[in-house]
Amino acid sequence: RAKEKGKNNYQLFNSEMKSVSLKRLTLESELRRALAKNELLLHYQPQINIATGRIVGFEALVRWQHPERGLVAPGEFIPFAEDSGLIVPIGEWALKEACRQNKQWQDAGLEVVPVSVNLSIRQFMQHQLCARIGRTLRETGLDPGLLELEITESCTMDIDYASDLLHELKKLGVKISIDDFGTGYSSLSYLKKFPIDKLKIDRSFVRDIMTDPNDAAIVASIIAMTRHLNMEVIAEGVETEEQLRFLHDNQCHLIQGFYLSPPLAVPDAEHLMKLYSAQAAAGEESPPLN
Ligand code: C2E
Ligand code: MG
Ligand code: MG
Ligand code: MG
Repeated sequence: RAKEKGKNNYQLFNSEMKSVSLKRLTLESELRRALAKNELLLHYQPQINIATGRIVGFEALVRWQHPERGLVAPGEFIPFAEDSGLIVPIGEWALKEACRQNKQWQDAGLEVVPVSVNLSIRQFMQHQLCARIGRTLRETGLDPGLLELEITESCTMDIDYASDLLHELKKLGVKISIDDFGTGYSSLSYLKKFPIDKLKIDRSFVRDIMTDPNDAAIVASIIAMTRHLNMEVIAEGVETEEQLRFLHDNQCHLIQGFYLSPPLAVPDAEHLMKLYSAQAAAGEESPPLN
């Protein structure tokens, strides 16, 4: 019986494996095609300073306009792209597109708002990353001070390598932020070794701040720590007024989340920028909270 059961398990495992790898193969070739056919696009989620009521940044987030499946979220293809290495050309495309779009907004007379771009660890480990980013900045004409690179903590990261690379990137004039802070590699030692401008508090901590005292304590401590380290801090995944209030009361004024705005398609992002500049021009800079 045991043997039979084992055999069945083996077969089940085997056929599941097959369909998983088949799926992977299909997805991989589809993704290659998507890149070549320009099916990828960026949405932009605003980051708001709730103390001033101004947009302080946009995070560029990739989407895939699939011919049959419609708009596909990154969660459905970024992990595959990471495994297959396709994240490198996708990430390069996203960086270039974000810089190009930002420069175009400036040239069109829209408010100057920095853009953040996610860098995968595979890109981070890539040869001559710094030279590539420098080239992209020159080619698009974007002021390096308007580009922020979001890096996720990772255990595969060699501290000395990362430190050297980040210092090299800083020399370009770009900003560095740590994405999903608190969920990854838990060593705090890099916080003093790396030239980090900003921590992004992961949304898993923000989600339960009103109900879980531990999450509330963690978030409050991260905020206090950034103040002592002279870093900026932004909370991700803010979905409610109560969460916003908690963050405001704890001196975290930079907010990104559905409560203020989801990631927006380009025309909607432009519309929002115009709204905010018109409001500022009319002197209606009344902060939503004080
Ligand atoms: P991330 O960098 O942490 O980006 C924030 C994600 O949180 C976005 O998901 C955003 O839509 C979502 N989000 C924002 N506010 C809220 C909220 O209030 N509640 C909830 N539940 N979610 C919120 P999205 O766009 O699906 O992207 C998922 C992840 O995919 C990103 O997480 C990032 O790690 C990755 N990604 C997206 N674009 C790129 C890219 O160009 N390159 C790389 N390497 N990764 C990317
Ligand atoms: Mg991010
Ligand atoms: Mg990220
Ligand atoms: Mg994040």
